[in-house]
Amino acid sequence: MIIAIDGPSGTGKSTVAKGVAKRLGFTFFDTGAMYRSAAWMILQEGIDPMDVEKVQEAMGRFQYEIKTDDKGERRYFVGPSDVTEAIRSQPISQAASQVAIYPEVRRAMVKIQRKFGHAIDAVFEGRDMGTVVFPDADLKIFLTAKPEVRAKRRYRELLSKFPDLGRSITFEQILHEIQARDENDTNRSISPLKQAHDAVLIDTSDLTIEQSIEKIVRLKPCRKRRYPPMKLSYRIVYSMARFFFKTCFRLKIYGLNHFQPGAAVLAANHASFYDPPVLSISCPEEVHFLAKGSLFNIPLLGKLIRVLNSHPVERGASDAQTFRTMVQLLTTGKKLILFPEGKRSPDGRLLPIERGLGFLVQKAHCRVIPAYLSGTFEAWPPKRKFPKLFGKMACIFGTPIEWEEFEGFEKREAQELIGKKVEQSIRDLKAWYEAGAKGTPP
Ligand code: C5P
Repeated sequence: MIIAIDGPSGTGKSTVAKGVAKRLGFTFFDTGAMYRSAAWMILQEGIDPMDVEKVQEAMGRFQYEIKTDDKGERRYFVGPSDVTEAIRSQPISQAASQVAIYPEVRRAMVKIQRKFGHAIDAVFEGRDMGTVVFPDADLKIFLTAKPEVRAKRRYRELLSKFPDLGRSITFEQILHEIQARDENDTNRSISPLKQAHDAVLIDTSDLTIEQSIEKIVRLKPCRKRRYPPMKLSYRIVYSMARFFFKTCFRLKIYGLNHFQPGAAVLAANHASFYDPPVLSISCPEEVHFLAKGSLFNIPLLGKLIRVLNSHPVERGASDAQTFRTMVQLLTTGKKLILFPEGKRSPDGRLLPIERGLGFLVQKAHCRVIPAYLSGTFEAWPPKRKFPKLFGKMACIFGTPIEWEEFEGFEKREAQELIGKKVEQSIRDLKAWYEAGAKGTPP
């Protein structure tokens, strides 16, 4: 279970998050410490934090580790260096906020954070935990406090840690620095600091740390994922088709933990007529797909695919019309099946992914859940007129790809990157399955 706590600095975020983790017996992650550690490395290497090229290139060398000392306190390491105290200095605060605006830096961090959060109970605190890193966190909190209150807290904290600083730094300077960092964090184009739409807002200006912790713990995060109930007609067809594929093809479904409620494109490899039904019935909730308008005129099939939320694409319909239908489905929170290669692969191998997928994701502001379908090609390849009725099939869902990850890029570049990421993800799912399907799919 993941609890995501976001907010600007000085809201008591770290202390509150640590306290919540302790009360619930969860692991605690301070993601600001990661950005600070990256900034430490940059300054240590004599790189100007404004030099985007050099900073991004340096991220390839970033080796971050968290260890626990004998007192149970966390220590942060960059390579062999313990940076736990060093990263709390003022120059590092500023450099962290500066390097945090670069897409390469954020991408590297998001990857590490998701890896840390995989299959554990944890409290993550940062700026984009609820919006980008863990959009399906079980509980999302957004902490705020008045800037003056935050500056006072930070000033007190600094003086208690570094008493000598009192001579060189004033409260006004801290306030100014906090406002500048807020400005940087909220206005950057990629993963800006903002409250997730489903986060609970808590203003800590007049709360003690204990009161803030209590408020969060009382929100009792719910462990169960709930999917919207299926329509009766959908459930009947779904259950029958599932029974068929599970019995005749020993269909196995992996990675359902990656399957999250809310709008998403389900993007899978495509090499068989079996793909749409197998993908649909592998999902734990209703999904939608587009089908040729002529199919709806075939007596039984037409009715059946209508029940299964298929939407007709009329012959001669422009790409723009089809695209509008897809955006409409997604913006109303639906899940849409899409085979982004654009056509069935003639030999079962994955074809390059078309740019349309990225375009759709950008327009609909939705996530992509990559999926790999195994065994459907063998059961019904494009060249075969009639399908086999026995065999072995699997559907594997992968880690969702969030549209916000590509926010800072130029439009066309983002579309290409989204396609590449989905393609790589499908390949990784295939490799994971073929290597024995151990643990959770990537
Ligand atoms: O939380 P903390 O003040 O330690 O974070 C240092 C800086 O790292 C922030 O000002 C922010 O720019 C960046 N940061 C971020 N995303 C996070 C955590 C921190 O951009 N998830």
